[in-house]
Amino acid sequence: NNIVAIVGRPNVGKSTLFNRLIQRREAIVDSVSGVTRDRNYGKSEWNGKEFSVIDTGGYVRGSDDVFEGEIRKQVELAIDEADVIIFVVDVEEGITPMDETVAKLLRKVTKPVLLAVNKVDNAMREKDAIEFYNLGLGDYFTFASISGSGTGDLLDALIDAFPEKPVVEVTEELPRFAVVGRPNAGKSSFINALIGQDRYIVTDIAGTTRDAIDTKFDRFGFEFNLVDTAGIRRKAKVKEDLEFYSVMRSVRAIEHADICILVIDATRGFEGQDQSIFWLAEKNRKGVVILVNKWDLVEKDTMSTRDYEEKIKKELMPFTDVPILFVSALTKQRLLKALEATVQVFENRKQRIATSKFNEYMLKVIEAYPPPATKGKYVKIKYCMQLPTLTPQFVFFANMPQYVKEPYKRYLENKIRENWDFAGVPIDIYIREK
Ligand code: GDP
Repeated sequence: NNIVAIVGRPNVGKSTLFNRLIQRREAIVDSVSGVTRDRNYGKSEWNGKEFSVIDTGGYVRGSDDVFEGEIRKQVELAIDEADVIIFVVDVEEGITPMDETVAKLLRKVTKPVLLAVNKVDNAMREKDAIEFYNLGLGDYFTFASISGSGTGDLLDALIDAFPEKPVVEVTEELPRFAVVGRPNAGKSSFINALIGQDRYIVTDIAGTTRDAIDTKFDRFGFEFNLVDTAGIRRKAKVKEDLEFYSVMRSVRAIEHADICILVIDATRGFEGQDQSIFWLAEKNRKGVVILVNKWDLVEKDTMSTRDYEEKIKKELMPFTDVPILFVSALTKQRLLKALEATVQVFENRKQRIATSKFNEYMLKVIEAYPPPATKGKYVKIKYCMQLPTLTPQFVFFANMPQYVKEPYKRYLENKIRENWDFAGVPIDIYIREK
């Protein structure tokens, strides 16, 4: 999956473009999960090609203040993480010193950079846009983010600019686990504790991307690939703003994984960054296990695991069916349990329910509590099945699917979760016309 980063100084229309790119996709995701948390990251597709979009502006603290250092960071981040960079400028303002700064950084980059001139909605502005050749980035695209005109051409160019990737993506059928979380949560310690002194690593397979590295593990009777990112190694260089780096780095790791092991620091709680990463995984339909690490540091009489778990689950609503384990990478407490739980989530995500069994149970459940009548009409669901997809998706066939609303879908999902183990796995429910 390709990653596109949108860069530019504040107020040039990055966010409007971002929203436009992810709009359609977002709408679909929203109707399914009922939640959207992360405004700076979204999925999009054009001509059948999927990609992820990152509005780097949103991650850089203080980027509304026009600080050159912040912009610089934002662009460097994009250069590191993205496959293609969209550099947005504003025809009304013309070339500003800050645009020059960004252009200077981008001119050195070997990755494709698309220069996008915003607010071009008439012939005169089309003429004005010529000035942007002076940025030394070659040809540009003109568009108007508010109306959307011109975005089609920009998207065509974007798709063309994606690097051809070698098709070695799935070399093994092994589960792919990504250890993600904020800096200092204990990810490295956890991985090291798993590896042990003996270094159970079998091979290093360079991933499909520059950063992602799969490490094959064969330990405690489990075989799996650990999806790691260069971020862990690089973090020492970047003193401040570690947090947005960790979210950015997580994007790639999450997309390459089946299951995300989200490590949080027990002494800090389940905070904003942890939540962003969690919803990133959920949005990508990956399995999730939450490890509350450094549990050895928590006074057990002031906080029980149950209280702690409840607190986290409040933030996970409505996707609360997630394994939460209390571990210590330091004392190696419950690490094996954590690994077992992760493998279980992998199995849950893979499981296929036979159509006959599924109907037998679900039709009874539906009969016991049918969809509420709407406008005097009764909705009937006569048949349902699990789709043969990578992540669990279920389709229910109804006479009037439009009347089956979100709460009822949630009821169906809860019933599925009650009867089958889908802990840690996002589920999609579709209602279709029979
Ligand atoms: P990362 O940035 O997520 O990879 O975090 P590290 O693995 O580098 O850990 C950050 C700090 O927390 C280090 O000083 C670790 O020694 C410490 N640490 C990690 N796990 C634990 C734990 O379970 N208990 C305690 N007490 N300290 C831990």
